[in-house]
Amino acid sequence: MKILMTEEEITQRVAALGESITEAYRGKDLTVVVIMNGALLFGADLVRRIQLPIRIDLFAASSYENDRSSGKLKVRSELKNSPAGRHLLLVDDILDTGFSMKCIREHLAGSGALSIRTCVLLNKHVGGKQFLAPDWVGFDIPDRYVVGYGLDSEEEYRNLPYIGILE
Ligand code: 5GP
Ligand code: MG
Repeated sequence: MKILMTEEEITQRVAALGESITEAYRGKDLTVVVIMNGALLFGADLVRRIQLPIRIDLFAASSYENDRSSGKLKVRSELKNSPAGRHLLLVDDILDTGFSMKCIREHLAGSGALSIRTCVLLNKHVGGKQFLAPDWVGFDIPDRYVVGYGLDSEEEYRNLPYIGILE
């Protein structure tokens, strides 16, 4: 496994994202929506770096099956709390084509949220055409299959504290 981002690099970057998000939402009612399962670790670390009285909710969906895109969003679990009257920040592990995040955004758009913005730890296909432009990005990465820090390959590797390229 080739390490792409060490634990230290991730920690530093997540802290910076947290600061930026804190400034952006000061005085606003924010709900951070962690997209399961990939953003489990990133979301848990990120919310601890947002110094505001936020709420946390979970949304489970994916457009991937067997490590390749099925081209369709599968919602496995809806939000627990209504986002009506609140600002939503959708947090996901990685943006590839942006199709998943675009579908999730559209799915939640009719829920009465005041705004919906997006934060992804990793962004692939930089400069290429994507379905959605994320508002916050941790790292731009090359178009390789990565695992660790929440990202899986057939449900394994999620617990690695670093991000690596699966050889
Ligand atoms: P998109 O819809 O943006 O093309 O794909 C986003 C989803 O595909 C991510 O949430 C993630 O589940 C999966 N994905 C895309 N690239 C990778 C990768 O390199 N590694 C892993 N583990 N998942 C990926
Ligand atoms: Mg995912």
